Amino acid sequence: MAKVNDKCIGCEVCVNMCPEGFAMEGDKAKVINQDADCIEDAAEACPVDAIEVDSDPSE
Ligand code: SF4
Repeated sequence: MAKVNDKCIGCEVCVNMCPEGFAMEGDKAKVINQDADCIEDAAEACPVDAIEVDSDPSE
């Protein structure tokens, strides 16, 4: 389960890196597809660590 928190500054890095997983909503990004393979890469690339990913092994 991944989500974008309030630290998002709307830089669009995640949307550009991972359009399958993220979209802009107003001035912030949101996760549109939890299953996108690139979510973790985008989380690492986010300049303000606004993408929270917790991988639940039971899922
Ligand atoms: S990379 Fe981070 S700060 Fe930039 S739009 Fe995505 S969530 Fe927001």
